[in-house]
Amino acid sequence: MRELRTLPKSHLHLHFTGSARLATIREFAYRYGISLPPALANQDFDWGDGGQDWSYFQGRYEAARQTIRSAEDVRRIIREAAEDDVTEGSGWLELQVDPSSYARHLGGVNPAVEVMVDACQDASRATGIGIGLVLAVSWSASPEHAERMARVAARYAHRGVVGFGISNDERLGEPDTFVSASHIARDAGLVVTPHTGFYTDYHHVRRCVELLGARRIGHGITAALSSRTLDLLAQRQVTMEICPTSYLPLGVLSSMTQLPVAAFRQAGIPVALAADDPLIFGTRLVGQYEILRAVHGLDDQALAGLARQAVGASTAPLEVAKQLLSGIDAWVK
Ligand SMILES: [Zn+2]
Repeated sequence: MRELRTLPKSHLHLHFTGSARLATIREFAYRYGISLPPALANQDFDWGDGGQDWSYFQGRYEAARQTIRSAEDVRRIIREAAEDDVTEGSGWLELQVDPSSYARHLGGVNPAVEVMVDACQDASRATGIGIGLVLAVSWSASPEHAERMARVAARYAHRGVVGFGISNDERLGEPDTFVSASHIARDAGLVVTPHTGFYTDYHHVRRCVELLGARRIGHGITAALSSRTLDLLAQRQVTMEICPTSYLPLGVLSSMTQLPVAAFRQAGIPVALAADDPLIFGTRLVGQYEILRAVHGLDDQALAGLARQAVGASTAPLEVAKQLLSGIDAWVK
């Protein structure tokens, strides 16, 4: 068995605030006089029997988000996310952020994005990891807001924005609302990657692919329940961004053995393992690969195959992707 930390990786599903170190969030909270919920204050990752509702997650996430109030805070979070990913063997990182959530403290949406794209560049230079930004809107957004944000994403496409995401609770919205926004994003060469199939059924997943032209899906767990949906995903080679530690706490799955990675692999659908929100779920990228090894019995060849698929689905520049792929070959040799 090879050391998973040294397997070259591409990390495609990591949220900006969710990437933060707990110590950093606590430091920010102290500085601004904000009290954190006990779970964050005590580093308590105990989800009881799992099956908590979305508000439980949202409350923690929102509390952490409230502590990020300056351009310097943003730079610190991105720099540390890059450092942490590098130590986990990652050579390409896509950070997902809804800039409108941070606009209030940063002088508006455009200034927030300016800070973020510059911070990604600086962190990339300092740590050696390539970083792309996925600008996201909430599933609760209006079509007008989604279009506005897609235009912002398109405007920054030449400065490190690589994708357009739809995040938050997917039950809050219908894919139809995001048709025009997705069009704008795709026209700018951005990958469209909505969260779906977490709480919503496979029809929602299908519509994200058919209506929005999604090339990647955040989670998409329920797609495994429909052979027609599996066929569609395989035919279009849509990559599933699977974050194993996100599902038990929120009751999407009741056991890690139910993780549908084998179903996706058998159907010929690419899978990219990712950490989602290590701040909330307590596990970073290597831990996700470890679960596939320990619980699903994937051998080193199969784990290397997953790492390759994450590179293949990434927006990494060709030379970065080539280097990662040859590193993966060397790892399994
Ligand atoms: Zn996510």
